[in-house]
Formats: sequence, structure tokens, C-alpha cells
Amino acid sequence: MTETPTMTESEDAVPAVANLDTIVSLSKRRGFVYPSSEIYGGINAVWDYGPLGVELKNNVKRAWWRAMVQEREDIVGLDAGILMHPQVWVTSGHVGSFSDPLVECATCHRRYRLDELPGAEGLSASDLRDPTVVERLGLICPNDGGPLSAPRRFNLMFTSHMGPVEDAASIVYFRPETAQGSYVNFKNVQQSSRKKIPFGIAQIGKSFRNEISPGNFVFRMREFEQMEMQYFVRPGEPASAAFEEWLPKRRAWYERYGVAPARLRFREHAKDELAHYAKKAIDVEYRFPFGWKELEGIHNRGDFDLGSHAKASGENLEYFDQATGEHFIPWVVETAAGADRAAFTFLIDAYREEEVRGETRVVLGFHPELAPYKVAVLPLLKKRPEIVELCHRLRADLATDVLAVYDDTAAIGKLYRRQDEIGTPWCVTVDVDSLDDGAVTVRDRDSMAQERVPVEGVKRLILDRLAAARAA
Ligand code: ATP
Repeated sequence: MTETPTMTESEDAVPAVANLDTIVSLSKRRGFVYPSSEIYGGINAVWDYGPLGVELKNNVKRAWWRAMVQEREDIVGLDAGILMHPQVWVTSGHVGSFSDPLVECATCHRRYRLDELPGAEGLSASDLRDPTVVERLGLICPNDGGPLSAPRRFNLMFTSHMGPVEDAASIVYFRPETAQGSYVNFKNVQQSSRKKIPFGIAQIGKSFRNEISPGNFVFRMREFEQMEMQYFVRPGEPASAAFEEWLPKRRAWYERYGVAPARLRFREHAKDELAHYAKKAIDVEYRFPFGWKELEGIHNRGDFDLGSHAKASGENLEYFDQATGEHFIPWVVETAAGADRAAFTFLIDAYREEEVRGETRVVLGFHPELAPYKVAVLPLLKKRPEIVELCHRLRADLATDVLAVYDDTAAIGKLYRRQDEIGTPWCVTVDVDSLDDGAVTVRDRDSMAQERVPVEGVKRLILDRLAAARAA
């Protein structure tokens, strides 16, 4: 929602890509991301992931799940429904206050999120709630210079109706976050998994927000995916300690998968900016080509969530600590990230252009775990059926463990460049000699070094390198 910088950890960093269009056009051309419903002119703020994009995003989600569930004894997964009992959203505060300040131009009727207007950047949360702010700052419509209305709160939740009757009693909300599914299932999960506090519930799934001004490609969409983890802890000091522990862990996750440390920073929310549920909130921000923006929010939510749901539902959501005999409502420390925003960040940060023998080489230097294809199998001569056949056999063998692709639609130099541009870490080339000596050439994306490897050893080599990259 709203953002006002209050803390800067590093000097401004140079974005990995100067112009966002470079990424948007590469994404379209190579099949990462397309505008939704494009043949009908598109629909604002929804994007479709193409063959490479779906692999990248799945790999990002897997990497998050690995770090947050697989490698942790104290966190379990959940996949709750998108549609929930409408009372959930009343209790959570979303019906009452999940809103952004909206202003409208009196002449062209365009609508803007107040804090995204020229001249309104960096407004404090109190300013954003001030009904006289437009007049006081002399803000005008950036489109036609027309007068703007005073800000009004615009609720960001999409609604629909469940069942055949469309009345107030049948209203349902498209969830604007996955977190509530974890809170209302707290008791189910705790009892069925027999986890002791502290423990966490992790979820990945779609969320929906009727954003006033979506944009910057997949940065702000109306339909998007979140990767959220709710960590249930003892009240007070243990919650503050858990909050502090999650901060470096979550930042390190982005670095581990390739984001340059200089383009990451923490930003603490000012007191008047804190969401209604939060005791403390720090964002992990990334230096996008359009400025420093939130990647992930880490929040100490106190007992707001379980306390409110216990009260509104009448269900006892206390935890019983057998060791001490105490009953208490756990506090929640949340790490709330976006799968699309993370994939977008890894894509931007992986982009580089290099001069190689007088030509520009475009490389997506993805961490091997995130790369859509792990390996490409390429024939040096596609006219030789034995070479092509060996390529297909090798690809099929590799494909039982990793996503491997065969391509013979250009000369080898061009095939390498294509794989570099989509971030494939290794290319395997089969040539005439391979038919005699049973060896193939393995080329490394980053160093461009080539080595001869017996064909039976290729899969082991690729799997070993992937394992090494994962462990690094
Ligand atoms: P913002 O300030 O960017 O609107 P927020 O503070 O409302 O974000 P949270 O409610 O903390 O965001 O959501 C957690 C994460 O979900 C965000 O850090 C972001 O990665 C992702 N996210 C939120 N809204 C969107 C959106 N409209 N499009 C894509 N990702 C989103």
C-alpha cells in the first residue's frame, strides 16, 4: 500500500537495467511474459507467463519452499482456498480499512493513487489521510492539469457472489493475501502436525487486489501470487527476537539466488505508516529501474490476527504450552513476499550485456536453480541423422531429471547466443567427432569455457554442477 522512505541502508545503487523496456521486450520475444488477452487489446494489470516464464516462476516458488518448508523442521505448508467466509475479511480489518487514497481529475476523470502523483512522492501516512492535502500541495492532474478531488479511501478487494442469488448475503471476496488462510487454520495445522511453538505455516498462492494504479510490468498487478509465511511465537520479547532473526534470513535468500547485495536494502515503516495490525514492519526493498520498491514485507503482527479471529468466531485459538502449563494467544511474525515480484527481480538482476569479439552478448546470468532450461542439447550439423539422433537420446536422458531442450534452428554460434539470452547454464554440443569418440562438448554460459566430456558422463556432470550451485 503506501510507502514513505524512512531508512536508507545503502547509497543509491545503479539499477541492473537502465530501461524497463529492455526486460519487457525480451520477456515478450523469448516467451517469459505476455500481456493478458492480448488479441482483445489486453486487460490492464494482468500478465500471462509464457513457456520460459512459467518455468522461472515455478523455480522461484520451489526455491522459496525449499528455504521456508523443506529445510526447516519448524515450518509446514498449507494451501487454503482463495474464497473464504466473508466474516474473515471483516475480522481481519480488510473490509474496513484495506484501502488506498484515490483522487480523481474533475475534467478528464482519470483516477490516481495519491502517493503516486508527481509532487506527492514521499508523503507521510498522516499527509495521505489529510483531506486538504491536494489543495495544500497544489497537486494537479498529470494528464491535463485539471483540478483533483480531495482523496477518498478506495477499498482494494474484489468481490463476487457465491451461489445463484446475488444479494448482500452471498458476497464473497477474492483474497487480497494468503495470510488469513493460515490464521483461520492455525488450530487445524497445530493439532494435526503436533508442532510446538515457535512454528510456522507457509503458503504460496494467488491473491487479488483492485490496485488503483497498477503498472511497471509485473511489479504491481491486480492478480498475482504471494509466498507468505506466518510464524507463531510466544508473546512479547520472543516475537521481537523472531522478527529480528527473519530479517537477515529473508534478505540473504534473494542474495543466494543472485540478486546483487548493493541493490537490496531494508526500510522500516514509520509509526504512522504501520498497518492496523503491525507492531513493527520492515520491507526488503530492491533497486528497480523505476526506483527503490518493496520486494517483501516482514511484520510483527502481535496477537492481532489470532486474537481477533478468536473473538469474532468464538473459537478458542489459544495455544497450550505443556512445558509451562500456560495458555496464550500466540503472536505472529510474518514474511510476505510476492512470487511475481521476486521472479521479476531475479530476471532484472540477471540481465547483462557483454562485448564478446566485437559483438554484444546478452546474458541472463540466472542462478542455475532458477534458470528455465538447465541444459540445451545442440547438433553441430543437423544434416547428419546420427548426430541428431544422439542429441535426442541425450536430451531424453537428461529430461528425466532436469528440463532440457533441443534446438537445431540456427548455426551453433547463434544457438549459443539464444541460450545465453534465456539464461541456460549449460549447452551440450554433439559434433562429427562425437560419433567416433563418444564425447561431446559442454559449454558454460558464464565463462563460455568448453570441455570435452564422454556422453555417458554428461548427466552426472550437470547434476553435480546443479548440486554445487544449490549448496553454494
Ligand atoms: P505495496 O506497498 O507494493 O502495495 P504491500 O505493502 O501492500 O505492497 P503486502 O501486503 O505486504 O504488500 O504484500 C506482500 C507482498 O506481496 C509484497 O511485498 C509484494 O511482493 C506482493 N504484492 C503485493 N501487492 C502486489 C501486487 N499488486 N502485484 C504484485 N505483487 C504484489
